Amino acid sequence: MMLTRRAALAGLAGVATLGALRRPSEPDVVIVGAGSAGIAAALTAQAAGLSVLVLEAMDRIGGRAFTDTATFGSPFDVGCAWLHKADDNPYTAYARAEGFTLQAHEYDLERVWLGPEPTPAHLVNEAEEAMSEAIMAAPADVAASTVVDVASPVNEAAGDYLGALDMAVDLDELSTFDYANADDLAPNFLCAQGYGSIVAHRGRGLAVRLNTPVRHIRWDGPGAVVETDAGSIRPRAVIVTASTGVLASGAIRFTPDLPAATQEAVADIPMGMLAKIPLQIRDQRFGLEPFTDVLLARRGRRDLYFLSFPFASDLMVGFVGGDLGWELSAAGEAAAVDFATQGLVEMFGSSAASAVVKGGLTPWASNPWTRGAYAAASPGRYAAREALARPVGDRIFFAGEALAGGLIQTCGGAFRTGAAAARAVQAVLA
Ligand SMILES: Cc1cc2nc3c(=O)[nH]c(=O)nc-3n(C[C@H](O)[C@H](O)[C@H](O)COP(=O)(O)OP(=O)(O)OC[C@H]3O[C@@H](n4cnc5c(N)ncnc54)[C@H](O)[C@@H]3O)c2cc1C
Repeated sequence: MMLTRRAALAGLAGVATLGALRRPSEPDVVIVGAGSAGIAAALTAQAAGLSVLVLEAMDRIGGRAFTDTATFGSPFDVGCAWLHKADDNPYTAYARAEGFTLQAHEYDLERVWLGPEPTPAHLVNEAEEAMSEAIMAAPADVAASTVVDVASPVNEAAGDYLGALDMAVDLDELSTFDYANADDLAPNFLCAQGYGSIVAHRGRGLAVRLNTPVRHIRWDGPGAVVETDAGSIRPRAVIVTASTGVLASGAIRFTPDLPAATQEAVADIPMGMLAKIPLQIRDQRFGLEPFTDVLLARRGRRDLYFLSFPFASDLMVGFVGGDLGWELSAAGEAAAVDFATQGLVEMFGSSAASAVVKGGLTPWASNPWTRGAYAAASPGRYAAREALARPVGDRIFFAGEALAGGLIQTCGGAFRTGAAAARAVQAVLA
């Protein structure tokens, strides 16, 4: 019966609730956000027979999983690209079954420049390995910068690669416990059609009300009242998947206020920044094979990582993270593209500049519905992740990458949290 109802509603544009007999304005559960966590929550809740309404602020599903197929003539992942822990990732088997092309790709550095000097990449990889061990051995939850030595150029490069370019925060903002409790993410796969395309495919047919920001969640009576510009919905429970950046911004008002412990937890897990600066390159490959991992490391945390020409595309995908990521995001696309182009010139000579025909900058810093790339607990605040995972009043459940345990910061981890939140709702409503 569920299947019939799903099939009938899947074709309707715009709004629908799925499942049982409750009125559309009174579903069992409202899910705030149609990113990876929201999609998983909706699929899981529906499968459990609950009626579901998904409200999404943006004009598309996927959230921080989004593949742009229009700008460069080849798929470009604006958000997540690597299927981390691919042998245990909820998207891997799905992608294979649905005909997506996956390719194993670890991101050990292959070409490194320290300033203008080409340097053996293994030196930085080994330094990063040693640094990683030192951070994991830290007996207390402190800033990673206090347990590693970044005095040498090689160590500084390794620290920037591990911190800003992976965890999206510089080492002085990286919690040793956050890092130590994160899983080793190998094996890693890339997808020719884009990770965002897989996520959108997974969510296709789900009934989602797009362009519908949730402004206010009341939980002062039975169930909840979820207010949008288009009216109110009265579910029995709410799953909130908005990023900690969105939650901290106050874009969703709660009445009564969320408990102090929840609010503190949100503040203690702020968003980090990873920005991509894709450069489209014509008639030039700089001697790089497709997928080569390149690091241009500079003193003073001005590092640029490039994923070279993935899937034989003509893109050098630049990445900047941490404070530099925020800085260039604020500076805007032209300044960021210029920064990345200058990086190519530094490595490959002045003719590299004329090979760049188009560039871009990912908008996660300025997007009001993300307000950053992914969340990183502040040093000393690792326990906040557990505090935020606690449901409020048995009616408000949180999900999303910030709560993904060993898979924090990842799209696959976010999916798992959405499914878990839906199961928790099912248990409460049973
Ligand atoms: C540049 C970049 C690179 C990344 N690389 C990788 C990678 O290679 N591999 C990987 O696994 N992960 C990567 N990630 C992280 C990954 O994209 C995220 O962890 C994951 O997509 C988060 O999913 P989510 O469902 O938790 O949150 P989101 O995707 O943010 O979903 C939340 C949704 O809620 C919506 N929303 C917010 N507020 C409201 C509101 N008030 N009302 C209604 N809707 C609202 C948002 O619009 C959004 O669609 C990357 C992220 C970035 C930014």
